[in-house]
Amino acid sequence: MSREKLAVQQARKAFLTGGSKPLEYRIKQLKNLHRFITERATDITNALRKDLYKSENATQMFEILGLEGEINLAVSNLAEWAAPRPVNKTLLTISDDVYIQPEPLGVVLIIGAWNYPIAVTLQPLVGAIAAGNAAVVKPSEVSSHTAKVMELLPLYLDPEMYKVVTGGVPETQELLKQRFDHIFYTGNSTVGKLVMEAAARHLTPVTLELGGKSPCYIDKNCDIRIACRRITWGKYMNCGQTCIAPDYILCESSIQDKVINEIQKCIQEFYTKDPKSFADYGRIINQRHFKRIMALLEGSTVAIGGDSDESECYIAPTVLRDVASGSKVMQEEIFGPILPIITVNGLNEAIQFINEREKPLALYVFSSSSKVGRVMHYFQLLNGKQTIYIFSQVIKQMISETSSGALLANDCLVHFTISDLPFGGVGNSGTGRYHGKYGFDQLSHLRSCLIKKLNMEGVNQMRYPPHTTEKLRWARVFLLKQVNLARWRQMAQVAMLVALAAFVVKRFLR
Ligand code: NAD
Repeated sequence: MSREKLAVQQARKAFLTGGSKPLEYRIKQLKNLHRFITERATDITNALRKDLYKSENATQMFEILGLEGEINLAVSNLAEWAAPRPVNKTLLTISDDVYIQPEPLGVVLIIGAWNYPIAVTLQPLVGAIAAGNAAVVKPSEVSSHTAKVMELLPLYLDPEMYKVVTGGVPETQELLKQRFDHIFYTGNSTVGKLVMEAAARHLTPVTLELGGKSPCYIDKNCDIRIACRRITWGKYMNCGQTCIAPDYILCESSIQDKVINEIQKCIQEFYTKDPKSFADYGRIINQRHFKRIMALLEGSTVAIGGDSDESECYIAPTVLRDVASGSKVMQEEIFGPILPIITVNGLNEAIQFINEREKPLALYVFSSSSKVGRVMHYFQLLNGKQTIYIFSQVIKQMISETSSGALLANDCLVHFTISDLPFGGVGNSGTGRYHGKYGFDQLSHLRSCLIKKLNMEGVNQMRYPPHTTEKLRWARVFLLKQVNLARWRQMAQVAMLVALAAFVVKRFLR
């Protein structure tokens, strides 16, 4: 029997004992996962330095902090997330218990990618553990040093319930032959299709966290200096190897020079004049990706950077100007530190450009807020109102006329850190979502529960044969009439209070 098959079998056997269901068990495992990232911090830092040349603080900030936040959130909220969720009652269910019970799915396969190898592999695991599942974790072989550290996980987690299988494509393919109850895959869309195909054989549901080209539109009326600071940060972090990095800029030709100028200033400010010898500028993961990215420069004009060193997998922060929509760099997700600028004639053309392509994982728009909008917003804040007010017409139009996994106005990447926002793609950029409660729900079965009593049989007469016109009329009343029972209850309470008050007045105050 293969190592992969054995791992799945053992995880299933452990799951079937019911051991992963008690909330105390899940919380203990989540705390153990937390212990893994704190006690093994040095191993993790060293591995990420070797894999991606990440600095210690960058590893803490962009791999560990978010994961820690997710663990803490799950530990604090698990009781609430896992509790039965009552639903609205109808005339037919007035005396029944009607609720949704989240329950574990079974054995979850988590296939991780290499660009944030800790975050994208262990954050789904938080959801899997919290939801009470067993899991088989397959770290990416491309970030090999981090995968090695991940092999230490069974020293912290229940080794029967949570398995780590390392290896490359053959091992992943062997895993995919096995039957799982959910597959959570992070990586490129081509392999995403293979994962979905394999899952279909067992009718296994999937979450596909994929990538693609995330556009970034800069409106000519915005504060270009600030916009470029945020874009430069979002693009060149981790050497451009971020699934939600802005892939390319769309702007009017009148502001292109200013955009290039501002990005140049930011590159120097963030990474010095010599990013190659700067400790906080990363490297491309391997030579295969290095060659792929360098080939994307073909046929385009370099405005900033462009230099590289294959022996170190170094590519300088690079900007391309006046890029043609049919150029090589526009044919695939760049996933490296190259930022093409495509000029368009205003917002409508930018929207058309975006809509002619696959739905992105993230869509960025930079546009200044209107003064009226700001005043309204502060007024609403003072009033304690939660109304969503869209400041700018540009942002409003971008939201209403496009589709993407997420839309972020006037910043890059940071929506990833908000646990209350579901993280995931749409169409070619993915299916399903996670983070916070969304991760818990994604890896749970939301079971519908209706608990009736063996009384009030008279009400059921209308559904038993013979199906008379009279019964049909009653069925219409019970099934189609929208009765707001909560409002009835409120009215009944008010009526009782009025009756009580009348009684007190009559009895004692006269
Ligand atoms: P990768 O090469 O590490 O592949 C991911 C996983 O798929 C690995 O575990 C690998 O073993 C497995 N795999 C690769 N080829 C396979 C095959 N032929 N059959 C079966 N399994 C196979 O990672 P990658 O795909 O290069 O990752 C980069 C991509 O992931 C980018 O497109 C990026 O945008 C996307 N990504 C998305 C997110 C997100 O959250 N949406 C996060 C990170 C990365």
